[in-house]
Amino acid sequence: MKLAGGCHCGAVRYEVEGDPLTHALCHCSDCRRHAGAPMVAWTMYPEAALRVTKGEARVYESSQHGRRHFCGHCGTGLFYYNANVLPGIVDIQSATYDEPEAVQARIHIQVAERIIWMERAHELPQYQRYPPQE
Ligand SMILES: [Zn+2]
Ligand SMILES: [Zn+2]
Repeated sequence: MKLAGGCHCGAVRYEVEGDPLTHALCHCSDCRRHAGAPMVAWTMYPEAALRVTKGEARVYESSQHGRRHFCGHCGTGLFYYNANVLPGIVDIQSATYDEPEAVQARIHIQVAERIIWMERAHELPQYQRYPPQE
């Protein structure tokens, strides 16, 4: 399977080929604070599976070995590398795929750091768009 994706503004585009090793919804505080979102979905691949086809991501050193690649223009988070914990591996933010439903999410990880209300977020009232106006 070959998938394409990119950042919000389109300055950085990529392609990834093959099957992901896993697809995890990460609840760690590092992902949360970097994304400004309650969790981040990651698909894991061998490094060689990823090819940046347009532009160049900027790199943020989010921890001693953690490297978060993002678009320097629009800020979208794209890739994560950690040569210490995950040598030869790249994690790709699957919400940046052109077809984000192409790969099914499999697991939740780092739930020890999950925001408490995220545990039951799927039970909240749901609207196709917005709640009706009073
Ligand atoms: Zn961008
Ligand atoms: Zn995380």
